[in-house]
Amino acid sequence: MNLVTTSLKQLAEALRKRQVSSRELAQAYLERIVRLDPTLGAFITTDHERTLRQADAADSRIASGTAGPLTGIPVAHKDIFCTQGWLTTCGSKMLSNFVSPYDAHVIEQFKAAGALILGKTNMDEFAMGSSNETSFYGTVKNPWDLTRVPGGSSGGSAAAVAARLAPAATATDTGGSIRQPAALCGISGIKPTYGLVSRYGMIAYASSLDQGGVVAPSAEDLGIVLNTMVGFDARDSTSIQRPPEDYTALLEQPLRGLRIGLPKEFFSGGVSADVERAIEAALQEYERLGATRVDISLPNTALSVPVYYVLAPAEASSNLSRFDGVRFGWRAPRYDDLADMYELSRAQGFGPEVKRRILTGTYVLSRGYYDAYYLQAQRVRRLIVNDFKSAFAQCDVIMGPSTPTVAFGFGEKTGDPVQMYLSDIFTISVNLAGLPGLSIPAGFGQGGLPVGLQLIGDYFSEARLLNLAHRYQQATDWHSRVPALASA
Ligand code: GLN
Repeated sequence: MNLVTTSLKQLAEALRKRQVSSRELAQAYLERIVRLDPTLGAFITTDHERTLRQADAADSRIASGTAGPLTGIPVAHKDIFCTQGWLTTCGSKMLSNFVSPYDAHVIEQFKAAGALILGKTNMDEFAMGSSNETSFYGTVKNPWDLTRVPGGSSGGSAAAVAARLAPAATATDTGGSIRQPAALCGISGIKPTYGLVSRYGMIAYASSLDQGGVVAPSAEDLGIVLNTMVGFDARDSTSIQRPPEDYTALLEQPLRGLRIGLPKEFFSGGVSADVERAIEAALQEYERLGATRVDISLPNTALSVPVYYVLAPAEASSNLSRFDGVRFGWRAPRYDDLADMYELSRAQGFGPEVKRRILTGTYVLSRGYYDAYYLQAQRVRRLIVNDFKSAFAQCDVIMGPSTPTVAFGFGEKTGDPVQMYLSDIFTISVNLAGLPGLSIPAGFGQGGLPVGLQLIGDYFSEARLLNLAHRYQQATDWHSRVPALASA
């Protein structure tokens, strides 16, 4: 079975028809990881024995006729999801010794479906970053060009899927961390509506923005995985209770009459010429499929990055206060008294980007600055939500580039945090509004590097977004292109 060209859907069919066993599938993926991952650095942890045990259990389930669509399918998980008995590091030295005693809700859902845990993927430390350069476990290389970043913070998940080291991987998106790495690695990725995927056991960065989702080669595969991932969970107070939905149900719907909103702020400067060309070609493809274009405006787009970099650090400074060296995680080996132990443990356990965010967050929440920064940012967040509301009165979906440029080189933006932050200019407002967003491969730009098209929908329009992406993927083959490294 050629794992480079076989989709998750086809793998599931082959398992059901007993053309391949789950054990064989797991072995084949683990073999690819052993062979290719030393070059990429996409995985932090694999555990062959454990994965193969799960495969055997899946094989019995398939034999007994009680298998579901994901039974026996290996899935890689971003190392932000607590996984019982597995090292769960969140890309940080702080959690470099943390073996989780429990499963995140997301992991429970996959286990119940009979999916295998293929391994835990590398990520920016505490999901703070856009290039995977902040990980304690080293950078992840972009499979299309090893001198370039895979994007972040879900860089390990995106690189693993792009190199076909996994048929799908979980990821999280606080300001773009699913869509941006998906775009830079030439794969598909969806961030669902805020609240659809439980945050229980998903290590918190900025709780009002964090949302779990998935990356896979195609929209069809995203839908299949999303069906397992989404679900109400009383342990997350913002989890949404809705009747279950089949995210693959609308895939084949024709696009006639679709109104695509093009925010002028996403197309006016700041986007490199190669990305703009690819996006324009994708829009023309949508017109051939029956869609029309509508010019819209999201006037507060430029404010989304500054608003995010007040709110996200504020929430992070509070969420990360739990890492004190007492209950779990890194503890300084030598210290004088309790206060010294806290200080040294945090000083040694957190990397520079995490410290920068904690300092910023503490500052904007402090007395005297709270009104000027935190409160003001909340007000602007409301304006951004309203921008989308007016936009969706004029169109059915919003489209634009996922990122301003193709993948950049290592070290290119690490010296200037603001430049790094601006690489999320098109994704961040979607998190501030809590809307669903999708990135799909839409051709190549400079250096033969992938370009991502972003689709933004109204609340709970995931099935429709996947439909729009799927029809495009039936008409084009960008999503099935793989980097040379994957076929080696
Ligand atoms: N790049 C953004 C940040 O550094 C978004 C990260 C994310 O979505 N987790 O915060």
